[in-house]
Amino acid sequence: MIPAAFDYVRAESAAEAISALTEHGEDAKLLAGGHSLLPLMKLRLATPSVLVDIGRVPDLSYVRDEGDHVAIGALTRHHDVNHSPVLAQHVPLLALVAGKVGDPQVRHRGTIGGSIAHADPASDLPAAVLALGGSMVARGPNGDRVIPATEFFQGFLETALAPDEMLTEIRVPKAAGGHSYQKFVRRAQDWAMVGVAVARSNGSTGVSLVNMGATPLRATAVEQALAGGASAAEAAEVADQGADPSGDPNASPEFRRHLARVLTRRALEEAGL
Ligand code: FAD
Repeated sequence: MIPAAFDYVRAESAAEAISALTEHGEDAKLLAGGHSLLPLMKLRLATPSVLVDIGRVPDLSYVRDEGDHVAIGALTRHHDVNHSPVLAQHVPLLALVAGKVGDPQVRHRGTIGGSIAHADPASDLPAAVLALGGSMVARGPNGDRVIPATEFFQGFLETALAPDEMLTEIRVPKAAGGHSYQKFVRRAQDWAMVGVAVARSNGSTGVSLVNMGATPLRATAVEQALAGGASAAEAAEVADQGADPSGDPNASPEFRRHLARVLTRRALEEAGL
């Protein structure tokens, strides 16, 4: 439970953080809330030689109405996403989901950028951003690029971010229609055994799954079934199509598939379908 030795660098700006990443390459890791990285380091599943602390970088904690979308700074804490009036009005799914992450202590330390960059398929916020059709702003030595959520999550704890890039902003289109997040847990503060996020906007429905594969997954079979006129119950029957859930002491792959179908039906119905 004691991490391997590492050097510590405190970045005072995003530019400083990126130049530290450029200097140290794959050996360096950004430290935001530390609620995913530090446990991995204590288990020695991650052994970065340099930690670049971005926790005090100013100007990266915000929620802004940008017209057709809402922009969220990468260092915005889960608690602030949960309580944002802008999100409550324009993207209520994201506010709802942030309030389901862990417990109050986790929500006061963890950041949306850390959660998205960590890309744990069992995490709540990556799936919500995927269902909403959001995108990520990655800043590197050559400037900013925007990566759609559908291309961002590439494998287990793997993203499209390059080693010298920092996630600075998450963008989500406004979607104030019906929505739902169904998170199946044994205890209130647990990680999702399976989760389903649904967001409706302008006649289309985004559906995504938590903990049903190596990455958060878009439930495209469900979305296509709905677009073709299927009822919520009919569409939910194909929720696990294309998924590849693993088994663990909490749930077998078969049970996860069953949960995905049941939770998708509940989510679609709660979203008004
Ligand atoms: P960190 O731990 O600091 O970083 C995580 C990873 O992201 C690291 O690899 C880091 O280098 C990288 N990173 C961080 N910020 C950036 C950035 N801006 N750009 C590029 N890379 C970056 N999560 C859930 O979704 N649901 C839960 O129910 C849940 N329960 C939890 C319970 C406990 C007890 C704990 C400790 C954590 C739980 N979490 C849960 C995880 C929590 O949401 C974390 O806060 C989050 O996953 C990571 O955010 P962080 O700011 O702590 O990131």
